[in-house]
Amino acid sequence: MHCPFCGTPDTRVIDSRLSAEGDKVRRRRECPRCNARFTTYEIAELLMPPVVKRDGRREPFLDEKLRTGLLRALEKRPVSAEQIEETLLRIKNRARASGERELSSQRIGEWVMEELRNLDQVGYVRYASVYLSFEDVNAFREEIERLQKTPDAANK
Ligand SMILES: [Zn+2]
Repeated sequence: MHCPFCGTPDTRVIDSRLSAEGDKVRRRRECPRCNARFTTYEIAELLMPPVVKRDGRREPFLDEKLRTGLLRALEKRPVSAEQIEETLLRIKNRARASGERELSSQRIGEWVMEELRNLDQVGYVRYASVYLSFEDVNAFREEIERLQKTPDAANK
């Protein structure tokens, strides 16, 4: 890294330590030419990709929005707040791991449905009924029929 004072292209790291939270590395550097000392921080870049809505508008990826959708679907269901947070985290990890520069709201909705299908069947059906109302009502009907025919799934 360049010295911010004299512009020397290379500076020495004289100390390197991890923050208490483990989420950043603090480095003390020294310039071999002007002897200036300064600090740099290294953090992981974990920006969420923006979301492209059905009408083509873009909006930031908001945890709160996703959480509200999950809470609504899982209202009065035997699912803990912790499970909901874990679900949220898994969806966010998928969004990051996708490596996409932007994500369609449809794709995120599909991930939510996959998570809910494993977590709580009632929540899944509730979410799907909202999510699919404009998309594919017939597929949803088939899905309900499939659930009704599968005793294991219905009792879950
Ligand atoms: Zn310097």
